[in-house]
Amino acid sequence: MASAEILSVGTELLLGQIIDTDAPTMARILAECGINCQRRTTIGDNFQRLQSAIEEALTRSDIVITIGGLGPTGDDLTRDAIAAALGDSLLESEEARQQLIQFFQSRGIEMVESNLRQAQRPESAQFVPNPNGTAPGLICEKHGKVVIALPGPPGEFNPMASGPVRDYLSTLYEKGSDRAGQSIIHSRTLRLIGIGESSAEARIKHLMDSQNPTLAPYAKVGEVHIRLSAKAESIEEANRIIQPVEQEVRKLLGPAVYGVDEETLAYAVVQLLLKRGQTVATSESITGGKIGEALTSVPGSSGAYVGGFVVYNPSAKRDLLGIEQDLIDQYGPVSKSVAMAMAANCRIKLNTDFAIAATGNAGPTADVDGKPVGLVYIGIADQSGVRVFEHQFRGIREDIRARVVQSALAAMRELLL
Ligand code: ATP
Repeated sequence: MASAEILSVGTELLLGQIIDTDAPTMARILAECGINCQRRTTIGDNFQRLQSAIEEALTRSDIVITIGGLGPTGDDLTRDAIAAALGDSLLESEEARQQLIQFFQSRGIEMVESNLRQAQRPESAQFVPNPNGTAPGLICEKHGKVVIALPGPPGEFNPMASGPVRDYLSTLYEKGSDRAGQSIIHSRTLRLIGIGESSAEARIKHLMDSQNPTLAPYAKVGEVHIRLSAKAESIEEANRIIQPVEQEVRKLLGPAVYGVDEETLAYAVVQLLLKRGQTVATSESITGGKIGEALTSVPGSSGAYVGGFVVYNPSAKRDLLGIEQDLIDQYGPVSKSVAMAMAANCRIKLNTDFAIAATGNAGPTADVDGKPVGLVYIGIADQSGVRVFEHQFRGIREDIRARVVQSALAAMRELLL
Protein backbone atom coordinates (compact mmCIF):
# COMPACT_ATOMS: atom_id res chain seq x y z
CA MET A 1 0.00 0.00 0.00
CA ALA A 2 1.35 3.42 -0.90
CA SER A 3 1.89 5.77 2.00
CA ALA A 4 1.18 9.45 2.46
CA GLU A 5 1.68 12.24 4.95
CA ILE A 6 -0.30 15.43 5.39
CA LEU A 7 1.48 18.66 6.35
CA SER A 8 -0.85 21.44 7.47
CA VAL A 9 0.98 24.76 7.19
CA GLY A 10 0.22 27.88 9.21
CA THR A 11 1.17 29.56 12.47
CA GLU A 12 -2.55 30.25 13.00
CA LEU A 13 -3.08 26.49 13.30
CA LEU A 14 -0.27 26.12 15.86
CA LEU A 15 -1.65 28.98 17.95
CA GLY A 16 -5.08 27.38 18.00
CA GLN A 17 -6.63 30.38 16.25
CA ILE A 18 -8.13 28.21 13.53
CA ILE A 19 -9.09 24.56 13.54
CA ASP A 20 -7.68 22.29 10.91
CA THR A 21 -10.73 21.03 9.06
CA ASP A 22 -8.89 20.39 5.79
CA ALA A 23 -6.56 17.63 6.99
CA PRO A 24 -9.38 15.26 8.09
CA THR A 25 -11.03 15.74 4.69
CA MET A 26 -7.74 14.88 3.00
CA ALA A 27 -7.27 11.86 5.25
CA ARG A 28 -10.69 10.50 4.22
CA ILE A 29 -9.89 10.99 0.55
CA LEU A 30 -6.59 9.16 0.96
CA ALA A 31 -8.32 6.21 2.66
CA GLU A 32 -10.84 6.04 -0.14
CA CYS A 33 -8.04 6.02 -2.69
CA GLY A 34 -6.34 3.13 -0.91
CA ILE A 35 -3.42 5.22 0.32
CA ASN A 36 -2.16 4.70 3.84
CA CYS A 37 -2.05 8.06 5.61
CA GLN A 38 0.64 7.41 8.16
CA ARG A 39 1.27 10.81 9.65
CA ARG A 40 -0.28 14.27 10.01
CA THR A 41 1.92 17.18 10.99
CA THR A 42 1.30 20.87 11.64
CA ILE A 43 4.06 23.32 10.82
CA GLY A 44 4.22 27.10 11.34
CA ASP A 45 5.05 29.61 8.64
CA ASN A 46 8.81 29.11 8.85
CA PHE A 47 10.78 28.34 5.71
CA GLN A 48 13.53 26.19 7.27
CA ARG A 49 11.17 24.05 9.32
CA LEU A 50 8.77 23.65 6.43
CA GLN A 51 11.49 22.60 4.00
CA SER A 52 12.88 20.04 6.43
CA ALA A 53 9.41 18.72 7.26
CA ILE A 54 8.81 18.10 3.56
CA GLU A 55 12.25 16.49 3.13
CA GLU A 56 11.74 14.22 6.15
CA ALA A 57 8.24 13.24 5.04
CA LEU A 58 9.63 12.30 1.62
CA THR A 59 12.12 9.91 3.22
CA ARG A 60 9.23 8.01 4.85
CA SER A 61 6.30 8.31 2.46
CA ASP A 62 5.46 8.08 -1.24
CA ILE A 63 3.14 11.06 -1.23
CA VAL A 64 3.34 14.33 0.74
CA ILE A 65 0.36 16.65 0.75
CA THR A 66 0.73 20.21 2.03
CA ILE A 67 -2.26 22.36 2.96
CA GLY A 68 -2.01 26.17 3.11
CA GLY A 69 0.73 28.73 2.64
CA LEU A 70 0.19 29.21 -1.09
CA GLY A 71 -0.97 32.82 -0.81
CA PRO A 72 0.84 35.89 -2.12
CA THR A 73 2.13 37.30 1.18
CA GLY A 74 5.53 36.99 2.81
CA ASP A 75 4.43 34.27 5.23
CA ASP A 76 3.17 32.03 2.39
CA LEU A 77 6.22 29.85 1.94
CA THR A 78 4.96 26.46 0.82
CA ARG A 79 5.71 26.86 -2.88
CA ASP A 80 9.31 27.89 -2.20
CA ALA A 81 9.81 25.22 0.46
CA ILE A 82 8.61 22.45 -1.87
CA ALA A 83 10.92 23.68 -4.64
CA ALA A 84 13.84 23.72 -2.18
CA ALA A 85 13.01 20.26 -0.80
CA LEU A 86 12.82 18.79 -4.31
CA GLY A 87 15.90 20.68 -5.56
CA ASP A 88 13.74 22.41 -8.18
CA SER A 89 13.92 25.99 -9.34
CA LEU A 90 10.73 28.03 -9.61
CA LEU A 91 9.40 28.80 -13.07
CA GLU A 92 6.81 31.40 -13.89
CA SER A 93 3.98 30.17 -16.09
CA GLU A 94 2.69 32.67 -18.63
CA GLU A 95 -0.69 30.92 -18.68
CA ALA A 96 -1.05 31.09 -14.89
CA ARG A 97 0.07 34.74 -14.99
CA GLN A 98 -2.67 35.60 -17.49
CA GLN A 99 -5.25 33.70 -15.44
CA LEU A 100 -4.27 35.68 -12.35
CA ILE A 101 -4.53 38.98 -14.19
CA GLN A 102 -7.97 37.94 -15.45
CA PHE A 103 -9.09 36.80 -12.00
CA PHE A 104 -8.29 40.20 -10.49
CA GLN A 105 -9.73 42.14 -13.43
CA SER A 106 -13.02 40.22 -13.40
CA ARG A 107 -13.48 41.04 -9.71
CA GLY A 108 -12.31 44.64 -10.02
CA ILE A 109 -9.57 44.10 -7.40
CA GLU A 110 -6.18 45.74 -7.68
CA MET A 111 -3.35 43.29 -8.33
CA VAL A 112 0.05 43.87 -6.77
CA GLU A 113 3.42 42.48 -7.80
CA SER A 114 3.47 39.86 -5.03
CA ASN A 115 0.31 38.29 -6.44
CA LEU A 116 2.42 37.08 -9.36
CA ARG A 117 4.23 34.66 -7.04
CA GLN A 118 1.15 32.51 -7.42
CA ALA A 119 1.96 32.05 -11.12
CA GLN A 120 5.17 30.27 -10.11
CA ARG A 121 5.63 26.53 -9.89
CA PRO A 122 8.53 24.21 -9.09
CA GLU A 123 9.99 22.69 -12.29
CA SER A 124 8.54 19.25 -11.64
CA ALA A 125 5.04 20.56 -10.87
CA GLN A 126 1.86 20.79 -12.84
CA PHE A 127 -0.82 23.22 -11.71
CA VAL A 128 -4.16 22.16 -10.22
CA PRO A 129 -6.74 24.79 -11.22
CA ASN A 130 -8.40 26.70 -8.36
CA PRO A 131 -11.73 28.08 -9.62
CA ASN A 132 -12.50 29.73 -6.26
CA GLY A 133 -9.30 31.60 -5.52
CA THR A 134 -6.02 32.92 -6.82
CA ALA A 135 -3.62 30.21 -5.63
CA PRO A 136 -3.49 27.21 -7.97
CA GLY A 137 -2.55 23.90 -6.39
CA LEU A 138 0.52 21.91 -7.39
CA ILE A 139 1.23 18.27 -8.16
CA CYS A 140 4.96 17.54 -8.35
CA GLU A 141 6.30 14.16 -9.43
CA LYS A 142 10.00 13.57 -8.83
CA HIS A 143 12.21 10.54 -8.16
CA GLY A 144 9.15 8.30 -7.82
CA LYS A 145 7.65 10.55 -5.14
CA VAL A 146 4.69 12.89 -5.28
CA VAL A 147 4.24 16.24 -3.54
CA ILE A 148 0.82 17.86 -3.72
CA ALA A 149 0.17 21.41 -2.48
CA LEU A 150 -3.32 22.79 -1.91
CA PRO A 151 -4.51 26.18 -0.61
CA GLY A 152 -5.88 26.37 2.94
CA PRO A 153 -9.25 28.17 2.73
CA PRO A 154 -11.83 25.36 2.84
CA GLY A 155 -13.91 26.94 0.06
CA GLU A 156 -10.88 26.55 -2.21
CA PHE A 157 -9.41 23.40 -0.67
CA ASN A 158 -12.54 21.20 -0.63
CA PRO A 159 -13.47 21.30 -4.32
CA MET A 160 -9.83 20.84 -5.38
CA ALA A 161 -9.20 17.95 -2.98
CA SER A 162 -12.40 16.10 -3.78
CA GLY A 163 -12.17 16.86 -7.52
CA PRO A 164 -8.90 16.86 -9.47
CA VAL A 165 -6.65 15.71 -6.61
CA ARG A 166 -8.86 12.78 -5.75
CA ASP A 167 -9.02 11.85 -9.47
CA TYR A 168 -5.25 12.04 -9.66
CA LEU A 169 -4.74 9.90 -6.55
CA SER A 170 -7.23 7.29 -7.67
CA THR A 171 -5.58 6.91 -11.09
CA LEU A 172 -2.45 5.81 -9.27
CA TYR A 173 -4.38 2.57 -8.68
CA GLU A 174 -6.09 2.10 -11.99
CA LYS A 175 -5.69 -1.33 -13.53
CA GLY A 176 -2.49 -1.45 -15.54
CA SER A 177 -0.67 1.06 -13.37
CA ASP A 178 2.22 -0.37 -11.38
CA ARG A 179 0.36 0.14 -8.11
CA ALA A 180 -2.84 -1.61 -9.34
CA GLY A 181 -4.51 -4.31 -7.30
CA GLN A 182 -3.94 -2.69 -3.94
CA SER A 183 -6.85 -2.41 -1.58
CA ILE A 184 -8.76 0.66 -0.53
CA ILE A 185 -10.94 1.27 2.51
CA HIS A 186 -14.36 2.72 1.81
CA SER A 187 -17.00 3.54 4.42
CA ARG A 188 -20.68 4.31 4.53
CA THR A 189 -22.16 5.88 7.64
CA LEU A 190 -25.77 5.22 8.60
CA ARG A 191 -27.26 8.03 10.72
CA LEU A 192 -29.76 7.13 13.43
CA ILE A 193 -32.16 9.18 15.52
CA GLY A 194 -34.37 8.24 18.44
CA ILE A 195 -32.25 5.30 19.60
CA GLY A 196 -29.30 5.16 22.01
CA GLU A 197 -25.86 3.81 21.15
CA SER A 198 -26.24 0.75 23.41
CA SER A 199 -29.69 -0.20 22.08
CA ALA A 200 -28.50 0.20 18.51
CA GLU A 201 -25.46 -1.94 19.26
CA ALA A 202 -27.59 -4.60 20.99
CA ARG A 203 -29.78 -4.95 17.90
CA ILE A 204 -26.88 -5.40 15.48
CA LYS A 205 -24.51 -7.21 17.87
CA HIS A 206 -24.41 -10.43 15.86
CA LEU A 207 -23.20 -8.47 12.81
CA MET A 208 -20.36 -6.82 14.68
CA ASP A 209 -17.98 -9.79 14.35
CA SER A 210 -17.97 -9.23 10.59
CA GLN A 211 -14.43 -8.64 9.28
CA ASN A 212 -15.31 -7.17 5.91
CA PRO A 213 -17.19 -4.91 6.17
CA THR A 214 -16.49 -3.96 9.76
CA LEU A 215 -19.23 -2.23 11.75
CA ALA A 216 -18.69 0.39 14.42
CA PRO A 217 -21.29 2.50 16.30
CA TYR A 218 -20.45 6.07 17.36
CA ALA A 219 -22.44 8.25 19.78
CA LYS A 220 -22.91 11.81 18.47
CA VAL A 221 -24.84 14.74 19.99
CA GLY A 222 -28.42 13.44 20.13
CA GLU A 223 -27.86 10.75 17.55
CA VAL A 224 -25.90 7.61 16.72
CA HIS A 225 -23.85 6.77 13.66
CA ILE A 226 -22.97 3.29 12.45
CA ARG A 227 -20.00 3.12 10.15
CA LEU A 228 -19.65 0.21 7.74
CA SER A 229 -16.14 -0.02 6.26
CA ALA A 230 -15.08 -2.42 3.53
CA LYS A 231 -11.65 -3.28 2.19
CA ALA A 232 -11.72 -3.83 -1.57
CA GLU A 233 -9.95 -3.09 -4.83
CA SER A 234 -12.33 -0.30 -5.81
CA ILE A 235 -15.11 1.83 -4.31
CA GLU A 236 -17.65 -0.06 -6.44
CA GLU A 237 -16.49 -3.39 -5.06
CA ALA A 238 -16.50 -2.00 -1.51
CA ASN A 239 -20.09 -0.85 -2.01
CA ARG A 240 -21.02 -4.36 -3.20
CA ILE A 241 -19.51 -5.81 -0.01
CA ILE A 242 -21.27 -3.26 2.19
CA GLN A 243 -24.70 -3.47 0.54
CA PRO A 244 -26.11 -6.76 1.98
CA VAL A 245 -24.88 -5.91 5.49
CA GLU A 246 -26.34 -2.42 5.25
CA GLN A 247 -29.65 -3.93 4.22
CA GLU A 248 -29.58 -6.20 7.26
CA VAL A 249 -28.74 -3.27 9.58
CA ARG A 250 -31.57 -1.22 8.09
CA LYS A 251 -33.99 -4.14 8.63
CA LEU A 252 -32.95 -4.40 12.28
CA LEU A 253 -33.08 -0.68 13.01
CA GLY A 254 -36.09 0.28 10.89
CA PRO A 255 -37.04 3.96 10.70
CA ALA A 256 -34.34 4.94 13.22
CA VAL A 257 -32.03 5.18 10.16
CA TYR A 258 -32.70 8.62 8.75
CA GLY A 259 -29.77 9.17 6.41
CA VAL A 260 -26.43 8.12 4.99
CA ASP A 261 -23.02 9.86 5.11
CA GLU A 262 -23.51 13.64 4.87
CA GLU A 263 -27.33 13.59 4.77
CA THR A 264 -28.65 15.65 7.68
CA LEU A 265 -31.91 15.33 9.57
CA ALA A 266 -33.06 18.54 7.85
CA TYR A 267 -32.31 16.88 4.52
CA ALA A 268 -34.48 13.90 5.49
CA VAL A 269 -37.35 16.23 6.49
CA VAL A 270 -37.12 18.25 3.28
CA GLN A 271 -37.09 15.10 1.13
CA LEU A 272 -40.19 13.73 2.88
CA LEU A 273 -42.03 17.04 2.45
CA LEU A 274 -41.05 17.33 -1.22
CA LYS A 275 -42.22 13.76 -1.85
CA ARG A 276 -45.59 14.56 -0.30
CA GLY A 277 -45.82 17.98 -1.95
CA GLN A 278 -46.26 19.61 1.46
CA THR A 279 -44.81 22.70 3.12
CA VAL A 280 -43.55 23.76 6.54
CA ALA A 281 -42.86 27.05 8.32
CA THR A 282 -41.06 27.81 11.59
CA SER A 283 -41.54 30.08 14.56
CA GLU A 284 -38.52 30.10 16.78
CA SER A 285 -37.70 31.61 20.13
CA ILE A 286 -34.92 29.63 21.85
CA THR A 287 -33.24 28.67 18.54
CA GLY A 288 -33.29 32.18 17.02
CA GLY A 289 -33.71 30.87 13.47
CA LYS A 290 -31.51 27.78 13.64
CA ILE A 291 -34.31 25.41 12.57
CA GLY A 292 -34.93 27.55 9.51
CA GLU A 293 -31.18 27.70 8.94
CA ALA A 294 -30.94 23.90 9.02
CA LEU A 295 -33.82 23.53 6.56
CA THR A 296 -32.54 26.19 4.16
CA SER A 297 -29.07 24.64 4.10
CA VAL A 298 -30.63 21.80 2.08
CA PRO A 299 -30.46 22.52 -1.66
CA GLY A 300 -33.95 22.63 -3.14
CA SER A 301 -35.61 23.31 0.22
CA SER A 302 -37.62 26.25 -1.15
CA GLY A 303 -40.11 23.67 -2.47
CA ALA A 304 -40.85 22.62 1.11
CA TYR A 305 -39.82 25.42 3.49
CA VAL A 306 -41.84 28.60 3.17
CA GLY A 307 -40.27 30.81 5.84
CA GLY A 308 -40.43 31.60 9.50
CA PHE A 309 -40.58 33.98 12.43
CA VAL A 310 -37.86 34.66 14.95
CA VAL A 311 -39.89 35.70 18.00
CA TYR A 312 -37.38 35.94 20.79
CA ASN A 313 -38.89 38.59 23.03
CA PRO A 314 -42.52 38.16 24.21
CA SER A 315 -43.38 41.39 22.36
CA ALA A 316 -42.40 39.74 19.06
CA LYS A 317 -44.52 36.68 19.90
CA ARG A 318 -47.40 39.06 20.43
CA ASP A 319 -46.80 41.50 17.57
CA LEU A 320 -45.62 39.14 14.84
CA LEU A 321 -47.59 36.02 15.64
CA GLY A 322 -50.60 37.54 17.36
CA ILE A 323 -50.18 35.55 20.54
CA GLU A 324 -52.38 36.90 23.34
CA GLN A 325 -50.44 38.82 26.01
CA ASP A 326 -52.71 37.16 28.60
CA LEU A 327 -51.55 33.72 27.52
CA ILE A 328 -47.90 34.74 27.86
CA ASP A 329 -48.55 36.34 31.26
CA GLN A 330 -50.50 33.37 32.54
CA TYR A 331 -48.19 30.53 31.48
CA GLY A 332 -44.88 32.28 30.74
CA PRO A 333 -43.09 32.38 27.35
CA VAL A 334 -41.57 28.95 28.07
CA SER A 335 -44.74 26.91 28.25
CA LYS A 336 -46.77 24.30 26.48
CA SER A 337 -49.53 26.82 25.74
CA VAL A 338 -47.20 29.35 24.12
CA ALA A 339 -45.49 26.64 22.03
CA MET A 340 -48.91 25.53 20.80
CA ALA A 341 -49.98 29.06 19.94
CA MET A 342 -46.65 29.77 18.19
CA ALA A 343 -47.07 26.70 15.98
CA ALA A 344 -50.76 27.17 15.24
CA ASN A 345 -50.53 30.91 14.46
CA CYS A 346 -47.39 30.49 12.35
CA ARG A 347 -49.06 27.82 10.23
CA ILE A 348 -52.04 30.06 9.60
CA LYS A 349 -49.99 33.18 8.89
CA LEU A 350 -47.75 31.46 6.37
CA ASN A 351 -50.47 29.17 5.02
CA THR A 352 -48.43 25.95 5.23
CA ASP A 353 -49.28 22.30 5.87
CA PHE A 354 -47.07 22.21 8.97
CA ALA A 355 -45.42 24.63 11.36
CA ILE A 356 -42.65 23.92 13.84
CA ALA A 357 -42.33 26.06 16.99
CA ALA A 358 -39.67 26.04 19.69
CA THR A 359 -39.58 27.90 22.99
CA GLY A 360 -37.37 27.16 25.96
CA ASN A 361 -34.68 28.31 28.35
CA ALA A 362 -31.14 27.78 27.05
CA GLY A 363 -29.56 29.14 30.26
CA PRO A 364 -27.25 29.77 31.91
CA THR A 365 -29.81 30.76 34.60
CA ALA A 366 -33.48 30.05 35.25
CA ASP A 367 -35.77 32.49 33.44
CA VAL A 368 -37.90 35.22 35.02
CA ASP A 369 -40.74 32.91 35.93
CA GLY A 370 -38.44 30.23 37.28
CA LYS A 371 -38.42 27.84 34.29
CA PRO A 372 -35.27 25.74 34.67
CA VAL A 373 -32.35 25.76 32.24
CA GLY A 374 -32.90 23.21 29.48
CA LEU A 375 -36.71 23.14 29.69
CA VAL A 376 -37.99 23.23 26.11
CA TYR A 377 -41.36 22.95 24.40
CA ILE A 378 -41.55 22.02 20.73
CA GLY A 379 -44.88 22.40 18.96
CA ILE A 380 -45.80 20.95 15.61
CA ALA A 381 -48.99 22.12 13.98
CA ASP A 382 -50.86 20.50 11.13
CA GLN A 383 -54.45 20.77 9.98
CA SER A 384 -55.64 18.46 12.75
CA GLY A 385 -54.15 20.49 15.61
CA VAL A 386 -50.87 20.90 17.49
CA ARG A 387 -48.69 18.25 19.14
CA VAL A 388 -46.38 19.48 21.89
CA PHE A 389 -43.23 17.78 23.12
CA GLU A 390 -41.64 18.70 26.44
CA HIS A 391 -37.89 18.15 26.88
CA GLN A 392 -35.46 18.73 29.70
CA PHE A 393 -32.04 19.02 28.07
CA ARG A 394 -28.71 19.27 29.86
CA GLY A 395 -25.53 21.06 28.84
CA ILE A 396 -24.29 24.51 27.96
CA ARG A 397 -26.35 27.02 26.00
CA GLU A 398 -25.12 25.98 22.56
CA ASP A 399 -25.61 22.25 23.29
CA ILE A 400 -29.17 22.87 24.41
CA ARG A 401 -29.98 24.94 21.33
CA ALA A 402 -28.48 22.27 19.06
CA ARG A 403 -30.57 19.60 20.78
CA VAL A 404 -33.72 21.68 20.25
CA VAL A 405 -33.07 21.95 16.50
CA GLN A 406 -32.48 18.24 16.30
CA SER A 407 -35.50 17.25 18.40
CA ALA A 408 -37.78 19.57 16.44
CA LEU A 409 -36.63 18.09 13.14
CA ALA A 410 -36.87 14.55 14.55
CA ALA A 411 -40.45 15.19 15.69
CA MET A 412 -41.31 16.62 12.27
CA ARG A 413 -39.80 13.61 10.54
CA GLU A 414 -41.66 11.19 12.76
CA LEU A 415 -44.93 12.90 11.99
CA LEU A 416 -44.21 12.73 8.26
CA LEU A 417 -43.33 9.04 8.45
P1 ATP B 1 -4.57 32.25 0.61
O1 ATP B 1 -4.42 32.26 -0.87
O2 ATP B 1 -5.99 32.64 1.02
O3 ATP B 1 -3.51 33.01 1.37
P2 ATP B 1 -3.23 29.89 1.57
O4 ATP B 1 -3.11 28.60 0.84
O5 ATP B 1 -2.01 30.72 1.65
O6 ATP B 1 -4.45 30.69 0.96
P3 ATP B 1 -3.24 30.21 4.35
O7 ATP B 1 -2.74 31.61 4.13
O8 ATP B 1 -2.35 29.24 4.97
O9 ATP B 1 -3.74 29.59 2.99
O10 ATP B 1 -4.61 30.26 5.12
C1 ATP B 1 -5.62 31.15 4.72
C2 ATP B 1 -6.88 30.87 5.51
O11 ATP B 1 -7.37 29.59 5.14
C3 ATP B 1 -6.68 30.74 7.01
O12 ATP B 1 -6.74 31.98 7.65
C4 ATP B 1 -7.83 29.87 7.41
O13 ATP B 1 -9.01 30.62 7.51
C5 ATP B 1 -7.94 28.92 6.26
N1 ATP B 1 -7.17 27.68 6.49
C6 ATP B 1 -5.85 27.48 6.26
N2 ATP B 1 -5.48 26.22 6.56
C7 ATP B 1 -6.60 25.60 6.99
C8 ATP B 1 -6.89 24.27 7.44
N3 ATP B 1 -5.93 23.34 7.48
N4 ATP B 1 -8.15 23.98 7.81
C9 ATP B 1 -9.11 24.94 7.76
N5 ATP B 1 -8.91 26.20 7.33
C10 ATP B 1 -7.68 26.54 6.95
